[in-house]
Amino acid sequence: MATDSHCHLYDLLRYMPEAEIERRRRGVICAASSWNTEDFLYTESLAKKAALDHAPRILLCHAVHPQAPAAINRNPQELLSFFEQLVKENRLNAIGETGFDLFTESLRKTQAVQEELFVVHLDYATSKALPLVLHVRKAMHEVFAYSRQLKRVPSVIFHSWSGTLGEGQSLIKRGVNAFFSFGSSIALNHKEALRSCALLPEDRLLLETDAPYQPLRGNGFSCWADLPLILHTAAAIRLESEEALSLAIDQNFIRAYMRL
Ligand SMILES: [Zn+2]
Repeated sequence: MATDSHCHLYDLLRYMPEAEIERRRRGVICAASSWNTEDFLYTESLAKKAALDHAPRILLCHAVHPQAPAAINRNPQELLSFFEQLVKENRLNAIGETGFDLFTESLRKTQAVQEELFVVHLDYATSKALPLVLHVRKAMHEVFAYSRQLKRVPSVIFHSWSGTLGEGQSLIKRGVNAFFSFGSSIALNHKEALRSCALLPEDRLLLETDAPYQPLRGNGFSCWADLPLILHTAAAIRLESEEALSLAIDQNFIRAYMRL
């Protein structure tokens, strides 16, 4: 078994039409995020088929992505209504990715809308007791501003953790049930991510591909073939065996997403 805490199956299809065969061959259980009707329905159909075939599970995560307001250039109400419908019909395993992306000027212009969306998602995660998957770029201060509310969510998964080691430790200290997910950033030698991955508690770590969006050097897209290198890097900097770390990561995935 292997686990991928964050990927986009619909978007991966463009690069890798045989992705589902590859996922099953590698035995990867994944948490798949979507942000619109078309990609949710596609991902849900794969998840149902996997369940019927007793193949490794696909967990369904959905939210209005923090980049969506800037990308669609209009009010995301339609996307939000669809998200709310899915929550009410109990079709989600987790809510996300939501959060804050203040990386570029055009994204910063939508900060107020991003925050409104985040609050809606956070409220549903609390009332429905669902895990919350966060996308945060240049906005860790916003996360801390909501740390009291985040404590009431069963688990908070920081996809592609972009904070510092101290920020991660502080979230745990504040009582947030936080999980920190690492992908190609550690294999690409990003200093701050390496430091967090090396020193955060083992029972808080997850690994991800963010397929297809975070390729390793020389690749056009990311996918499950990258997981062995990501695991190898994480184990090397933590001075742990790959076997032991892989087992811990899989158990963390189950705790974070399946609340067992
Ligand atoms: Zn993503």
